[in-house]
Amino acid sequence: MGKASAAWGGKGATPGRRAVVVGGGLALLGGAIALGEGLSGSPAPRRRAPGDLDYADARWVAASEANYRIADRPADYPVELVVVHVTQADYATTVRLFEDPRHEAASHYVVRQSGQVTQMIRELDVAFHAGNRWYNEHSVGIEHEGFVTRPRDFTDAMYAASARLTADVCHRYGIPVDRRHIIGHAEVPGTDHTDPGRHWDWPRYLGLVRAAREAAGSKKA
Ligand SMILES: [Zn+2]
Repeated sequence: MGKASAAWGGKGATPGRRAVVVGGGLALLGGAIALGEGLSGSPAPRRRAPGDLDYADARWVAASEANYRIADRPADYPVELVVVHVTQADYATTVRLFEDPRHEAASHYVVRQSGQVTQMIRELDVAFHAGNRWYNEHSVGIEHEGFVTRPRDFTDAMYAASARLTADVCHRYGIPVDRRHIIGHAEVPGTDHTDPGRHWDWPRYLGLVRAAREAAGSKKA
């Protein structure tokens, strides 16, 4: 095992498998090819197991399949935007609506006033949240529990949790953190929705997203 295990010594669980392949000769050729593919650096296979999350700090509750379209983003549609919504309902009602196949709409995420984040649709898929086909195809939709007329609904915990989520989305897809790419539902062409409304503090939100984005970037650099 000498050479191989020395070369891979610092990388945790890998050295044993690698060393066996290197030392095992022809009998293990098939295994070597399979292992080589696994180590080639190609993207991890996209998983669709129930409960899978795109954002580690979320919990999963599945939306009805009638409220989104199965896709393979960002391979088929680049993800370029985050769309900020306000639910105009409490959290339980929002989840019930997104689970209801007759609702014909749902967002990828719901952020509660407590700061809890729930993912209901995979980012791979096109959620029906913006009321505009192109915007749905190219965005991640984030709902915030509350009413546009009640500024007290937009809690510190909600802003902070949502900003971390948006920063993570921006980081993963290379979306610039600015108001051209992080927009309100009201700014989507053709919509008659007004959310998140005039009480949503955009400068504060963008500042929080930027701070979280920089923190995530420096961790992964
Ligand atoms: Zn909306």
